[in-house]
Amino acid sequence: MIAVEISDTRQVTIIDKPEPNLEKPDDVIVKIKSVSICGTDVHTFQGEHPFVKPPVVVGHECGGEVVECGSGVKSLRPGDRVAIDPVLGCGNCRACRSGRANACADVKCRGVHVEGAMQEYFRIRERDVHKLPDNVADLDLAAVVEPMAIGAQACWRGSVREDQVAVIFGAGPIGIAVMLNAHCLGARTIIIDMKQDRLQRARDYGALAALRASDPELTAKILELTDGEGPHMTCDAVGHPRIFEQCIDLVAPTGHVVLLGMDSQPNNVTELQIFKKEMSVVGSRMNSNMFPTILDRVAGGQMHLEQMVSHRFTAGNAAEAFTMAVEQPEGFLKAMVTF
Ligand SMILES: [Zn+2]
Ligand SMILES: [Zn+2]
Repeated sequence: MIAVEISDTRQVTIIDKPEPNLEKPDDVIVKIKSVSICGTDVHTFQGEHPFVKPPVVVGHECGGEVVECGSGVKSLRPGDRVAIDPVLGCGNCRACRSGRANACADVKCRGVHVEGAMQEYFRIRERDVHKLPDNVADLDLAAVVEPMAIGAQACWRGSVREDQVAVIFGAGPIGIAVMLNAHCLGARTIIIDMKQDRLQRARDYGALAALRASDPELTAKILELTDGEGPHMTCDAVGHPRIFEQCIDLVAPTGHVVLLGMDSQPNNVTELQIFKKEMSVVGSRMNSNMFPTILDRVAGGQMHLEQMVSHRFTAGNAAEAFTMAVEQPEGFLKAMVTF
């Protein structure tokens, strides 16, 4: 079978490798239909990832069709159309025992810490495989259930509720996923970004407002849109110390600040600021069993997976997909590679 390998920095090669076999009773073999490209994959492609080095098969946003099931598999059968949750915890620690394997100290994400899905067939555990609702006619879209689940996680961590206003910094795929999930919960959103095309997309997708990050009136406008109180939730979907500081400044008293970035630089947030507003500052990492939530929203027609995808490439043209994800031309949101 073929696989798409990042063979060296900025080099993608189509390789031939043996098909995976069932190993354990709960194993499932999925014929991969599509894999969408994430920022993590782009870092690997650019040779900038701290620990994932070529040659490697990446891909953790994926879906396809079940072709074979182990003897112990009960919930799936060949022909099922599925999305795959890439989060793998140790299974034993406190985080894992409480259903939050995404925060396991030893967590592994498929396609990052272990082999990824950019290949024709992929072996996976039954519990990581989720059936797509029938109203998703286009199986390619299974790939973007994972980034949507990251948005659901952020809204859960930020206690987003009906009639609230959430401010989201960053209108890339993750910011958009947070926004679309917030809308499903009945909240309104204010999106902040530097790029005009991204702001326009946020407006098209129903944001209450989409504001330029450089707008000198930014704080005043956000206060005006939130009755002078500030938003219930602020979210850093970029990962920058200045944005973290803005999230702390803007959030309403008793609000939630949700951090999705992976920035490690110091910032100027003080304990007093957090104390005074009695705010909750929370991290949000990958997802903890949010696939069913997303698939319910999709089945109910509240969420539309196609809103996450801007470009599609066949596996043979995967190199172009990675290059586009680096260059981010106007109108780009997420590229997927199809098999
Ligand atoms: Zn991702
Ligand atoms: Zn664990």
